[in-house]
Amino acid sequence: MFEIKKKYKRIRVEAYTPIAKPSNGTVQKSKVLLKLAPVPYTNNGKEHKAEAYYIKGLKGLLRHAAMRCARAKGIEVCHTSDKEEDKHGNKLIPEGFHPLGSCYPLNECIIHKIFGSMHVPSKIRVWSPPIANIKHAEYRSDIPIVKMHIATENRIALSYDKKPIQDFKEGYISGDFTFFIDVTKLNDEELNFILESLLYIEELGGGVNAGYGKVMLRKIVLEEVEEIRKLVKTIDGYKVEYKEKVRVLNV
Ligand SMILES: [Zn+2]
Repeated sequence: MFEIKKKYKRIRVEAYTPIAKPSNGTVQKSKVLLKLAPVPYTNNGKEHKAEAYYIKGLKGLLRHAAMRCARAKGIEVCHTSDKEEDKHGNKLIPEGFHPLGSCYPLNECIIHKIFGSMHVPSKIRVWSPPIANIKHAEYRSDIPIVKMHIATENRIALSYDKKPIQDFKEGYISGDFTFFIDVTKLNDEELNFILESLLYIEELGGGVNAGYGKVMLRKIVLEEVEEIRKLVKTIDGYKVEYKEKVRVLNV
């Protein structure tokens, strides 16, 4: 029957955070933790469902690490802003950076080569499997999920006469998580730069001043992945079988 194969190269990053609050606090409303549909899993043959989330913002995390890496090497690279100054005339671009995309195409810097800008798409893709609040020690699931501790912290923003007048909840995560970077389109120089940049990853999400968001990397693996999709005949039609063969490329 029909079968298609796709090969790609990725970096697997295994990371740990004691506590990260993947929302940017109350001022900036953008949430980095997206709630997903509950994921099914089994424990001892019994079916359960766990709340699941997606960690957004990992590409931004990597980009900022890459900017720090370039700075440490003395290489001038793109800033995240494409404007020299704001409307009040305040300088937006610090020493060692140029406005986003201004280097392209004549003097393209390594950040632009990898992450692109409005002129060219990014050469990499960064993603993580959904994280799930699984209560059981042992679990099986057909979908790739990562077990993590996910909880909410009750906070009080303002108080009047010792009574809270506005309280809110902030989600946080704790434990091991994994993310991937598709590096198929990178040349050796760009790949090495990304590998080195990973060492500059520090904080994920908000609350950094309060000590939240420390990220420690446990393991980095370069992998070649072959994705196989196959049509398999059943009594009432076809089902699609997904397979993944992973080969470690580390030297
Ligand atoms: Zn640039």
